[in-house]
Formats: sequence, C-alpha cells, structure tokens
Amino acid sequence: MSFQNPVFIPGPTNIPEAIRKAVDMPTIDHRSPLFGQMLHPARENVRKVLKSDTAEIFFFPSTGTGGWETALTNTLSPGDKVLAARNGMFSHRWIDMCQRHGLNVEVVPAAWGEGIPADRFEEILSADKGHEIKVVLATHNETATGVRSDIAAVRRAIDAAKHPAMLFVDGVSSIGSMDFRMDEWGVDIAVTGSQKGFMLPAGLAIVGFSEKAKKAGETATLPRTFFDIRDMEKSYAANGYPYTPAVGLLNGLKLSTDMLLAEGLDNVFARHHRIAEGVRQAVHGWGLSLCAASPDLYSDTVSAIRTPQGFNATDIVARAAKEYGIAFGTGLGEVAGKVFRIGHLGSMTDVMALSGIAAAEMVMADLGLPVRLGSGVAAAQEYYRHGAPAKQAAA
Ligand SMILES: *Cc1c(COP(=O)(O)O)cnc(C)c1O
Repeated sequence: MSFQNPVFIPGPTNIPEAIRKAVDMPTIDHRSPLFGQMLHPARENVRKVLKSDTAEIFFFPSTGTGGWETALTNTLSPGDKVLAARNGMFSHRWIDMCQRHGLNVEVVPAAWGEGIPADRFEEILSADKGHEIKVVLATHNETATGVRSDIAAVRRAIDAAKHPAMLFVDGVSSIGSMDFRMDEWGVDIAVTGSQKGFMLPAGLAIVGFSEKAKKAGETATLPRTFFDIRDMEKSYAANGYPYTPAVGLLNGLKLSTDMLLAEGLDNVFARHHRIAEGVRQAVHGWGLSLCAASPDLYSDTVSAIRTPQGFNATDIVARAAKEYGIAFGTGLGEVAGKVFRIGHLGSMTDVMALSGIAAAEMVMADLGLPVRLGSGVAAAQEYYRHGAPAKQAAA
C-alpha cells in the first residue's frame, strides 16, 4: 500500500493535511476551559451539518457502531419492538445489535441493491393499532450496496400511519457528504462516526438526539453506562466529560466541520454528486453496472460495481492493493465476490477520482475483464469537463 495514493474505501476516508495537524496536538487538561473551546463549537457545527435547530449532540470515544448502541440503549427496554428493513450489511448489523439487546425486531427483507420499502413500512405501522412499535430504524446510505434510501418517504410513511414511533437514522456514510435534514425529516436520533464524511480518523461516535428521544430515556431500561447520554449531558454543562475524551479527535472535528461549513453544505453535496456521477459514467464506459437497482437509489458517497458472473470481484481489490498500492472496498455479506466498491466521500476531488478510476481500469484489464483501457477514464473526463463547475475540496 502506498501512503501517497488516496484511498477509495468508503471509510475511513482520506484525511486532509490540516485536519491531521489539528488531531495531532499536545496533551491538554480536559478539565480546563480550553477543552470547552473545542467541544462546544464542534457540537454547534455538527448540529448545523445535521440541519437541526434543537438536536442535542453527543460525542463518544467509539465508532458508528457505538452510535447505534447509544441510540438503542438510551431509549428502549428489553422486549420493545422495532421495525427495520434489511437491505445490506449495515442494516443487517444494526438489526443484529437490536436482537442481541433483547429487542423484538420486525425485519422487512429487501433485495440487496434496493432501498427501504417505505410503503411496506406504512402498511406495517398502520396495522400496529396498539402502537407496539417504538422505533423505526433506517439506514440512510447502505454502504455495502451503494444505495441511498429516501428518509423523507420513511417519515411520510410513519405520519400517514399516524404512528408515534420514533425514527432513528444511520447516517454514518451520508452525513457530511450527502444532504441530511434531521428536523425536516423528523429524525429522532441521527448516528454517524468521525471517519467518513467528517474526514477524521476513526474514534468518535457522533449522535444527535431530538427532545422526544431524550424523553424516551427517562423510562428506558436497557442497561447503559459508557453510552449514557445523561452523564454526557451533565458533564457538557460543566464544560467537561464523564471520562477521558478523545481530545485530538474533537479538535479535528471542530476544524473539519468548520471546513464543511466554509465550503457550504450545498457545495459539499454538489461536489459529492458530481464526483459520484463521474464514477457512474466510468462504470457505464466499462460496460458494467451498479448494484443499486435504479438511478433514484444511487449513492453519492460509494458505488458498488457488479462484475460479470463467475468472476470474483474481490480479486480486483486484492490486485489493486498488491500491484498499485491503492485501496478499493470489497463486497460484503450477500454481495461478497459479486461487487467491488469505490468509495468517493469525504476529502475527494474530480482529479483524485480520476486516479481511482484509472487504477481500477488497469486492474480489471490485468485480470482479463473485457474493459478497454481509457474507457471509464474518458467517460469520467467528459463528465468532469462539462459537468457542474468544479468546487474542489479544501486541501
Ligand atoms: C461504516 C458504517 C457503519 C459502522 O461504523 P463503524 O464506525 O465502523 O462502527 C455503520 N453504518 C454505516 C452505513 C456505515 O457505513
């Protein structure tokens, strides 16, 4: 692996130099006012990135998975019913976590490559006259399949059923890269981590709680200690933490969110859309197709690309690493060996994307796939030349 090449895994993402420097800092006393000067602006910025006016933002030394656990254990009790669709590895894992916590999950199976079936949710919620379902779980962007689900449609389904269930959204691979509207979509808990759209190393679970979600915690009985938001909230009010915070990461998060807001969220989303569309043009140029079943589902942060029957897509990832020192994502779970993934989120530019497309093309040619050198690169070049004006990521 070369440290000069960008990575094209869908997290952890490339870290801009300025953010690396902000993370690498001398030890400070986290009980001094200096800590609050990192913590509170970072919370304020994250709230803006989530497009919420009122959400309470919490940071735990953890990852997105810890964010899932924070959401569940602070709001639910053993045996509580939750509704979730399984359409990829990440929704599958969140369901698995619910089950291991003794929750009763109504799983709606969906093909890997499809989005969340909001109409099915509406039927199930409408039939739940006793309001036993406490929470609807939704994975905004299925990183395994490159599928973005319509969270506004999930909210409409809950409202159409006149159901009081809360809506928890996994935005680990969307938040900070694709539009996310916590308040408008009525999201009660938003979950993400530091190492994807926020361009940081792994190490922080980042969660936003609505007032309703916080209130649910007053009666919830699932065990929680490390991830108890009540301890966090109390400590934040005193400028501190219930235990030792990941100070460098929080300092980095303050900077990375400053950078996102300075670029402008709409520009950030447009940049991701443009880069992603160039990758999709390349895939078309190769004569291959995406795992995502239809264009309305295409993710702007990761593309899962199907390879021909009988070909092991994982070979692409292995050869890319070995021969060219470049990282792509493998297929996970049901699509293992059937797809490889190009992550294009976080600190990414058109030019970086072209290097990934060119490298993938070499690897596929090496492995005997009928991909003509230059076919994907040219398709992406044409798009990037004529597409929306380039607004490049801050170096
Ligand atoms: C990466 C990811 C996770 C898991 O996050 P970790 O930080 O690895 O714990 C969860 N959900 C989605 C959609 C992801 O992309």
